[in-house]
Amino acid sequence: MLKIGCHLSSAGGFLHMGQEAVSIGANTFQFFTRNPRGSRAKELDVRDVEAYLAFAKEHGIGTIVAHAPYTLNACSADERVREFAHQTLCDDLKRMEYLPGNLYNFHPGSHVGQGIERGIALIAEQLNRILTPELHTTVLLETMSGKGSEVGGRFEELAEIIERVERKEKLGVCLDTCHVYDAGYDIVGHLEEVLSEFDRVIGLRRLRAVHVNDSKNPIGSHKDRHEKIGEGFLGLEALRRIVHHPLLADLPFCLETPNELPGYAAEIRLLREEDAIPCASPETH
Ligand code: FE
Ligand code: FE
Ligand code: ZN
Repeated sequence: MLKIGCHLSSAGGFLHMGQEAVSIGANTFQFFTRNPRGSRAKELDVRDVEAYLAFAKEHGIGTIVAHAPYTLNACSADERVREFAHQTLCDDLKRMEYLPGNLYNFHPGSHVGQGIERGIALIAEQLNRILTPELHTTVLLETMSGKGSEVGGRFEELAEIIERVERKEKLGVCLDTCHVYDAGYDIVGHLEEVLSEFDRVIGLRRLRAVHVNDSKNPIGSHKDRHEKIGEGFLGLEALRRIVHHPLLADLPFCLETPNELPGYAAEIRLLREEDAIPCASPETH
């Protein structure tokens, strides 16, 4: 069964997120490990986590995705900022041990003028410090739109980071549909080609989660502005083809569209429907 959900607020705790997920027809979800701007995390409530785990088992909630604060920059030019990123990553991964077997996604970072090679080297260095043999979480690098000096707008950049990491078995990739499209990958007209390119450059076995977002901007815009499903340049049919693609069948899909819960419920319903998919994608016409 398709694993689909959306980004939820973690303010009410884990059990509350689980209940919200079920209420909107989701069987996975994503949440920020702390305030997205990167302030201190709340104390983890172990009883809430236990209650969530029991609830998740009962209601068939599968793998979930934790998202690091998006202000975290693992490859900043400032050593103090990099050290803060390290502390945050460590602390988040320590908490994730209470929910073993899940995913932790982060934005690789922005090299801020140091050059892409230096950015890649610094990110790999951070990963080599945090990925320990004891870890029960898979850390994911998110594909980025290539805005500003962002690292991760090209599959090659992510491949180069992975290449430099020792414990590759703890590392994966999260593909964001808005980001890759904004980065210039035509997942609307040439999905098969983009997936083969991903496979050739990174390896599809590294793909562990998908962010399902429409985009407010055309292909190659490098903007990163998410749109509601079907209201942007990707469109409903292209996104449906992605969530139902046989090569992506086991992955958790999380919406990060500008919505409240009822909007998410409607998008989950829309995307679950398979019937309306035309039997061939436009590229084969
Ligand atoms: Fe993200
Ligand atoms: Fe995303
Ligand atoms: Zn984004």
